[in-house]
Amino acid sequence: MMDDLKKDVTRRAVVTGASRGIGAAIARRLAADGFGVSLLATNEALLSALAEEISSEGGEAEVVVCDLSDRGQLADVCRAIAEAHPAVHALVNNAGIVRVGGFEEFGGEDWDDVLEVNLRASFELIRALTPCLRAAAALGDASVVNISSVMGLLASPGIISYLASKAGLDHLTRGLALELGASGVRINSVCPGFIRTDMFEVSHPPDRQKVIGAAHALGRVGTTAEVASVVSFLCSPDASFVSGAVIPVDGGLTCRIAVPDMDAEG
Ligand code: NAP
Repeated sequence: MMDDLKKDVTRRAVVTGASRGIGAAIARRLAADGFGVSLLATNEALLSALAEEISSEGGEAEVVVCDLSDRGQLADVCRAIAEAHPAVHALVNNAGIVRVGGFEEFGGEDWDDVLEVNLRASFELIRALTPCLRAAAALGDASVVNISSVMGLLASPGIISYLASKAGLDHLTRGLALELGASGVRINSVCPGFIRTDMFEVSHPPDRQKVIGAAHALGRVGTTAEVASVVSFLCSPDASFVSGAVIPVDGGLTCRIAVPDMDAEG
């Protein structure tokens, strides 16, 4: 599909994990905002369907099939994107996976798989596309958004590699904000609370989904569009003085002290 990469015609956004869930919503939203969107994931059929949907609504999208856990594929794809799009105005590192289990039973490959997709691939994409981001910044504005999680801010048992990957992503955001700032490239993390997607449905049975919803101050889980609208803001010139920020988009989930029955004690 790399042959399909076209010459830059408009503001360019690269969105990973765009085949489903939060990533697909971000891609739809950025396309509606006027970005040409490079849709990256492994499921070509889903990516093509989304690209057609975006085109049918007057937008521009291209499909970039890449397994982010394959370093060779990732390097090839980064090269192809940089050649096709000398200026990249938005890079959204959204692709993510989770492995569930107690840390003592954890296989080394489970740790590696999660860190590879959630953290290392994000770093490699930023590094490879930095010249294109700098070029876009020189033209006006360029922004990286890392999709982290409330699990990067607070911990929960049984997902240790996920916790480490998301906390790592947030500190990557802060450190790179310092290194990229002088060239005008902004970088921020978005930390969603629980969002109704495949990842959420697969991870939690219906009864537990209700309990999880109730734990948010707003009394419900979020929608993919509610994450996408914050990403849209961060990728716009309206956020021109926002960099190095780690922003919860969590319906108030992380406001509460996690001691049961504290509410009445004040
Ligand atoms: P999802 O529905 O499971 O979608 C995950 C996306 O990542 C898919 O598009 C998948 O594409 C892509 N992906 C996974 N492994 C990949 C790989 N090796 N190479 C390329 N693409 C890969 O997940 P989601 O719920 O939308 O989550 C999106 C992001 O939000 C993740 O980073 C997640 O940690 C974060 N998040 C989610 C929630 C939530 O409650 N849903 C909460 C906080 C944070 P393919 O299957 O096509 O490869």
